[in-house]
Parts: sequence; C-alpha cells; structure tokens
Amino acid sequence: MMKIREALRRLTDAIFFPDIPVCGCCGKELEDRKSGVGFCRDCGAEMEKRRLPAAATDRGVLLYACYLYGGSVRRIVHRYKFDSGKWLAPFLGEEMAKQAAQIPGPLDAVAFVPLHKKRRRQRGYDQAELLAKEVAKRSGLPLVYGLSRTISTKKQSTLKAGERKTNVRGAFVRRKETPETEIAGKHFLLIDDVAATGSTLAECARVLRESGAASVSALVYARSENQGEMADA
Ligand SMILES: [Zn+2]
Repeated sequence: MMKIREALRRLTDAIFFPDIPVCGCCGKELEDRKSGVGFCRDCGAEMEKRRLPAAATDRGVLLYACYLYGGSVRRIVHRYKFDSGKWLAPFLGEEMAKQAAQIPGPLDAVAFVPLHKKRRRQRGYDQAELLAKEVAKRSGLPLVYGLSRTISTKKQSTLKAGERKTNVRGAFVRRKETPETEIAGKHFLLIDDVAATGSTLAECARVLRESGAASVSALVYARSENQGEMADA
C-alpha cells in the first residue's frame, strides 16, 4: 500500500513541478526569466506591500514573519498547502531563511510545528517540516525533530481565540525518538507556515522549554492581524 502511495506521490510531484518559470502566487508564466519560481509584476507588487520588517511581535512567544497574510500572500500559501504545491518549499524557505538571518540573539537549532500523522499522510508532506528543512539548510543550523502532534486537533481556523488555546493544549509532546540532549540548553527557531493567534506556537514552545530548551523564537511565512482572515488557512 505504501509503495503504491509513494509511487503516486512521485508521479504527481513530477506533474506539478513547473519546468517553465512561473509566478508562485497566480501560476502565470514569467517571460523575463529562464526557469524557477518568482513573482509576476502584479503579485510581486502586492507581496512587497505585505512584507513585514524583521521584528518580533509577542504572541506568547517571540514571533517573526515575512509577510502579513492576505491577497497574493494568501494565494501563494494556499497553492503551497492545498494545491500539491510542495515544489514551492525552496522558494518560500529562501525568504524565511533571509528573515531568520536578521533575528538578533543566538540560535542553535531549527524545529517545526508538525502536522498530525493522519493529516501528513493525506497531504503527502508536512508543509512546516519542508520549510524548516530549507531554513536549516540555508542557515547552517541543525534541524531537530523535537515535537510530535498527538491529537489531530479540530481545524484551528474554524475556532475562536479562546477555543484555540484549549484546542491545542496537550496536542504536542516531545517526539519520543528524539533524545532530550538534542533539545536541552538549545536556543530554538520554531517554524510554521502561518500564524493567527499564536496559540499553537506558544504550546509548541512550552513543550520545547519543558524539555530543556534554553529559548524558543518562532518564524512563520505569514501572520495575520485578525483570525477571521485566517479562516481558510
Ligand atoms: Zn502572479
């Protein structure tokens, strides 16, 4: 069964990987370059308007983000998560790594907010894991598989802020295959694709800290000012 699934995944990856230069947001072919992913003029202008400075906001954990969610940013996030957009990971990860390089203070390791294994199986990949791999590779930091999601929580985006907090409480534990020595004393950069209230990030940070992490800062591709806007993320 796994073999068939893996074969199908490779096939779909091959089909969806663009061999022409395309805009990561709208999928339009780019005429001013030879290959790879970029932004067309319209999407690029809107992405630029939504770009955030490399400064943290506190949502229970110091949170850094590349963009404010919405418009073209929403489109590229959707393409990445819901439209077999695994091929976008290096493109998004590159921007996140640039933002990571601006973060003051020591960082020793990269971790990520994992999907529940059921969701991961459905999607075929864990979007936060792929971004964390890109950030780790580009920043020279080790990627630590520090967390696992024990409860397949109700979709965060359908809940109100208060409900979100209780929804994620206890949803993550230290991944038991990962020894505490890989976590203890380390300053972590915790990666996720998007953040609304920050309650998921705060919960993951709590588990890492309780496993001995010295500190946890978070970096997401996009954050939202209001959770209603994230209803479909
Ligand atoms: Zn475009």
